[in-house]
Amino acid sequence: MNVNPLADWTTQAEDPYALGTEVVQQRAANGEGEAQFSQGCLLVDRADGNAGFMGASGRSPEADEGTALLEKAAGQGHVYAMDTLGDLHDTRKEHEHAVAWFTKAAEAGLPKAMHNLGVYLDEGKGVAAPDHPAAAGWYRRAADAGHGPAANNLCRMYNVGRGVTRSKRRAMQWRRKAAENGHAKACLQLAGRMYGDEPYAREVGHVGEAAGLATSAGVTVGHDVPPDVLAGVMHWLQKGCATGQQDPLAGLDAFRRDSLKGNMYCHNEGCKVVGLLKEFKVCPQCKTIRYCGAECQKQDWTTGGHKEKCGTFAH
Ligand SMILES: [Zn+2]
Ligand SMILES: [Zn+2]
Repeated sequence: MNVNPLADWTTQAEDPYALGTEVVQQRAANGEGEAQFSQGCLLVDRADGNAGFMGASGRSPEADEGTALLEKAAGQGHVYAMDTLGDLHDTRKEHEHAVAWFTKAAEAGLPKAMHNLGVYLDEGKGVAAPDHPAAAGWYRRAADAGHGPAANNLCRMYNVGRGVTRSKRRAMQWRRKAAENGHAKACLQLAGRMYGDEPYAREVGHVGEAAGLATSAGVTVGHDVPPDVLAGVMHWLQKGCATGQQDPLAGLDAFRRDSLKGNMYCHNEGCKVVGLLKEFKVCPQCKTIRYCGAECQKQDWTTGGHKEKCGTFAH
């Protein structure tokens, strides 16, 4: 029997059906890792009826045979088999097994497994207690490898300071990284925050001159936003609407209407001033909290407690 050893995981096929089903059974029986992965997925999938791949919550002889094949493939170093086993145990709510498989696949270098492991550590699933710094570390590794949802989760951690030192700037930078990697929600949020001139959004979301083309067709009319910012807004809107379910121009109009509404942005308690976001001065230290003017800023600093809290809104 001549068994092909598994190559480096980056050359392994993610699609279990890439091999074709005809020869797979025989080759899996011969001990070939790629075929074991394919046949394992096929059996688990079939056992699950039409509920969809990875929905195998029920146990059956077929599902168990598939799981055993996936374990064999994983034992030979097939990383998608490891990650698939993590998903399988996740569906069955066997969280300790799931986290063990995600860890193996993450340590082998698979970005989506790093993200899955991050979620488990973040939520404390399958482990004794949540480990937020470790979760952030795995999100970071996945995000650096181009995983959009991991970058978006890291954005959320920086926003609230969970597992990392709170930083609005870093949160915005990870939001951009998520957007670059096609995370639709991050694209739309980045566009909206640039339009509303939230701290760091415009500098971080800037996309350069070439994107000016996006605003050439009379789109700029009626927007009180600098042209280069609007170019960036349109760039991210179009990317966020790439699936076609939303219209970027309708999104732009929604931003405009929001910006015209006015709101109570002054952080000084009791202040009733209503206005547009950009009319409020942002605290020069934390660049997060806004005031209607110097008077309110001074009051909130000396008697409102912002002096103590300002540092917690670090850059
Ligand atoms: Zn005020
Ligand atoms: Zn401040």
